[in-house]
Amino acid sequence: MQNFEDKDPIYDVAQRCPVCNYEPFVAYRLKSKTQRIILDKFLVPKYEGIRGYPDSDFSCLGVTVCPSCLYSSEKETDFISLSQSSFTKKPNLPSLILKEDLLNDSSNRREILKTYNIEIKSFIRPRDKKVGFVSYLLAIECARIKIKHQKRHSFPEAGTYLLHAAQIAEEIGMGTLADQYRKNAITYFAKAYERSDFPGDHDEEVSYLNIVLNLYNDDKTTAFSYVKVIEDRRREMHAKGYGDTMKIDSFWNRIKDVLYEYEYGDELDD
Ligand SMILES: [Zn+2]
Repeated sequence: MQNFEDKDPIYDVAQRCPVCNYEPFVAYRLKSKTQRIILDKFLVPKYEGIRGYPDSDFSCLGVTVCPSCLYSSEKETDFISLSQSSFTKKPNLPSLILKEDLLNDSSNRREILKTYNIEIKSFIRPRDKKVGFVSYLLAIECARIKIKHQKRHSFPEAGTYLLHAAQIAEEIGMGTLADQYRKNAITYFAKAYERSDFPGDHDEEVSYLNIVLNLYNDDKTTAFSYVKVIEDRRREMHAKGYGDTMKIDSFWNRIKDVLYEYEYGDELDD
């Protein structure tokens, strides 16, 4: 087996900030086929090295942070890549008015750093869990501004960041905060569902998260209203033989697991 040191699962890509135009700074990307990605109950990924690669700490590196204005996002297309690779995705740039609002809001992002006593230049590698946690808080702050400007898919974006932040908060002994973030995420996923504000093929994910989070909040009635939607759709898909039944079946299995866990307080064995 090769040495871990020459098997780094992460690589750097130089970026320009679409909000303040600062460049260059680094975004971290995961090399393909180096990790097994395991989703927990809240669909937050955990990374396990495969093919001789070590486990990556990508959970803390996934958010790219502009070291000048602190504009932050996990989405590759939210920044302008300075590399000329054919894999480079076309950036999805903010409108002028959104850009201005994101720039004005940088004072609030600086406040977040102050609260957690983090330096602006900390968002590099290695990135400890506390810095990783704060990178999600910055991304949540930016997603809230995107919501204000009705940028597409910003409701599930904010909700997802809250769930990531909750996961790290739990790992660093801030369980109360984790609990609060998961409860806050409910509003965002409820709005995402109501407005169909999610990428085309992600409706099962959004429905599933509405189930998990409402059960977490002990709101069985609301959770079951989403269970019914998935159950009816799944039945119809199987009866008529259309759509991606494998995907809906895998979510249906996840739903059965969380319902079992909710009723019996224990995870269902596979
Ligand atoms: Zn910037």
